[in-house]
Order: sequence, then C-alpha cells, then structure tokens
Amino acid sequence: MNKFYQLKVLEVKKETQDCVSVSFDVPYELHETFNYKPGQYLTLKFNLNGKEIRRSYSLCSSPVIEKSLRISLKLVKNELVSNHINNTIKVGDFINVMPPDGRFFVDVKKENSKTYYLFSAGSGITPIFSILKTVLLTEECSYVYMIYGNRTENSILFKKELDKLIEKYGDRFILEYTLSHPNSNWNDLWKPSKEQIFRKGRIDTKLVKWFINEFPLYAKNAEYYICGPETMIENTKKTLKAIDVPNERIFFESFERTNSNDSP
Ligand SMILES: Cc1cc2nc3c(=O)[nH]c(=O)nc-3n(C[C@H](O)[C@H](O)[C@H](O)COP(=O)(O)OP(=O)(O)OC[C@H]3O[C@@H](n4cnc5c(N)ncnc54)[C@H](O)[C@@H]3O)c2cc1C
Repeated sequence: MNKFYQLKVLEVKKETQDCVSVSFDVPYELHETFNYKPGQYLTLKFNLNGKEIRRSYSLCSSPVIEKSLRISLKLVKNELVSNHINNTIKVGDFINVMPPDGRFFVDVKKENSKTYYLFSAGSGITPIFSILKTVLLTEECSYVYMIYGNRTENSILFKKELDKLIEKYGDRFILEYTLSHPNSNWNDLWKPSKEQIFRKGRIDTKLVKWFINEFPLYAKNAEYYICGPETMIENTKKTLKAIDVPNERIFFESFERTNSNDSP
C-alpha cells in the first residue's frame, strides 16, 4: 500500500504570492492506481539532506474534469518541503508520489440531490475546491453553499476559477468571501462587483450561524465539509453541533496531522 510511483511534473504555477501549484502527469498504465475521489490527498516523498521526508497535499484538481493531478501548497518562510518544491522543482522533473488516500471525500453521484455546505480558509481551499468543481459538474440537482476565508484580497486562491463557477452555476452555487485583513478601507461589507459581496472578518460562530440561516437547506440531505486552520475547524464544528447538525453529517480535514517521522 505504501508504494511510491515516479510522476512527471507537467506544470509549476505561482498562484498567489505565497502559493504554488504543481501538476503531475499520470501515465495510462497508472490511471487506475491514481484514481481518486474529490477531497483526497497525495503523499510526496523527498530525500533532503540525506533524510527521507514525506508530506501530504490535498488534490485541488477534479477527477472528472482534469486529466492531470494538481496540488497547491502554501509557502511559509523556512518551512522545508513547500520551499524545496517552490525553489527547485521544475517541469519535467520526476517526484515520488503515493496513490491518493484519505477519508475526507465526497462520493459524487449524478442522481444525488443534496445541500452541501463548504467551509474553507486559506490553503484549506484545496480539497474543498476539488469537491466543489466535481459536485457542480456531476450533481445537477445538488446545491452548494460555501464560505471561503482569507487574509487579504491577494491571498484568495483560485479566485478566477471560482468566479467562473459562480458565473456558470450561479443558480445552485453561492459563495461568500470573507477577509480578515482586507487591503481596502472597509466597514463590514464590500461590493467589488454586481455579483459579489466580500465580508470582513474570520469564519467565526456569528458568521457560520448567519450563513446557515441565510441559506437554509435546499434538499433535506445536507452535508457539511470543513478544511482550514485548526481553530476554524473546531469553531465551525462546535457551531454546527450547537444548531443540531448531526455529527455524522460533519466532515473535516486537518492539515496539521503529522505523517512524517521528521515532523517537529
Ligand atoms: C491530509 C493533509 C493534506 C494537506 N494538504 C495540504 C495542501 O493542500 N496545501 C498545503 O499547503 N499544505 C497541505 N498540508 C500540509 C503539508 O503536508 C505540510 O505540512 C506543509 O506543506 C508544511 O510542510 P513543510 O515541510 O513545508 O514545513 P515544515 O518544515 O514541516 O514546517 C511545518 C511547521 O513546523 C514548524 N517547524 C519546523 N521545524 C521545526 C522544529 N525543528 N521545531 C519546531 N517547529 C518546527 C514550522 O515552523 C511550521 O510551523 C496537508 C497535510 C495533510 C496531513
């Protein structure tokens, strides 16, 4: 199970000032091995300074839309693997990658009629983005309500792609952006265009409660997916439970889980 395969890097793309995406080619004979569900992650293996190091990255690509596998990583000064990838990895390189894994995923089905509530902050958008694209394309009778929190306007990952989704699926997809440190001089709301309102603040109890109230269940069958910093995950879970969302309908992914023996 713990087998790694060498995948070729197809593209390295700077998404924002502190985020880079890497796409991998999957040769025909590995298509089945690297088949995945939206929300799952890849584990990459490197040998750095004579030490084997593994890191996991959620797939932000969609299995029904993109042929290649794409991950996006946040760059933080002095952090090891993310900076190694950003500074040294280039198109044509081969990287050791373990097949997709993880229990944070959506079993997307054409006949589903569900309400999805998606909560993401910062780089926690990666698995959520995969879920979002896949559900919107495949489940024509499902509705998606999403909150996406960032620090500033410039740190919003996949902004252009998200805006295209709003344009295409606006009748069953609502996205609320919220910024903790907006550049502009705001009060509580900012309206950059006719379609969009940006909020000021973090994803906290008040915002989650308002959101659920404002966008009530479309279909009874609702599921709640959360990915972001630990405090945001905990707060959102707590708020959902307080308004009687059953535990088994709440799913979350934490990036802080360690899966490498070199982790501090
Ligand atoms: C399932 C899963 C999915 C993930 N998906 C993504 C994703 O889509 N995008 C993404 O950006 N990340 C994702 N991550 C996180 C990712 O795996 C890495 O943890 C992240 O990129 C940091 O790794 P690094 O080697 O760059 O940083 P590291 O060098 O490991 O640093 C990580 C933290 O440890 C601290 N640290 C490092 N060395 C020490 C030390 N000696 N003493 C004390 N503290 C130290 C650093 O300050 C930092 O806070 C995911 C994690 C999991 C588990």
